[in-house]
Amino acid sequence: MEIRVSDVKKWAGREETLHIESQDLEDAQQRLDFPFLSPLLLDVKVRNTGHELLVECQGTVKVQAICSRCLEPFVLEIPFEIFEEFHEEAGPDDPILDYHRFLGDKISLDLLVADAVAVSVPMAPVCSADCRGLCSQCGANLNLYPCDCTTPADDRWGPLKEWAESRPGQRQDKD
Ligand SMILES: [Zn+2]
Ligand SMILES: [Zn+2]
Repeated sequence: MEIRVSDVKKWAGREETLHIESQDLEDAQQRLDFPFLSPLLLDVKVRNTGHELLVECQGTVKVQAICSRCLEPFVLEIPFEIFEEFHEEAGPDDPILDYHRFLGDKISLDLLVADAVAVSVPMAPVCSADCRGLCSQCGANLNLYPCDCTTPADDRWGPLKEWAESRPGQRQDKD
């Protein structure tokens, strides 16, 4: 996934916008654990400030995620944003610098996209807000069928509660 900057880099103040629909996600895919499902859609704006090229992108991609409650795969749409500076100079990217380097007429977006998608994935994705998850006893997917397990009372905190309640004055709120 590359953008051509041969024109925009020539004139300070010039701005270009483009819309990318990319199926070629292999490089980005290698850096992510979950499979991309759709073409990636990206609106890109490149602006020449006279000092550097500012690349601004807003995109969406669908991935196959695993629900953190019921453990079933589902399609998750991930919106993501990129905002980076590029300077035309030789050398590989240096993590100490707060800009990227490019040479020639093209800027590759693969790594930026992979990073932007990775940080935009929720920590614990759920297939739907009311996913009922798995039964903690028999492991049944409660979205598909209810099981007959009954939840035993959790009394691990019982002794502590009794102790707390036995202390005089503990249950009254202080002003
Ligand atoms: Zn689920
Ligand atoms: Zn059960």
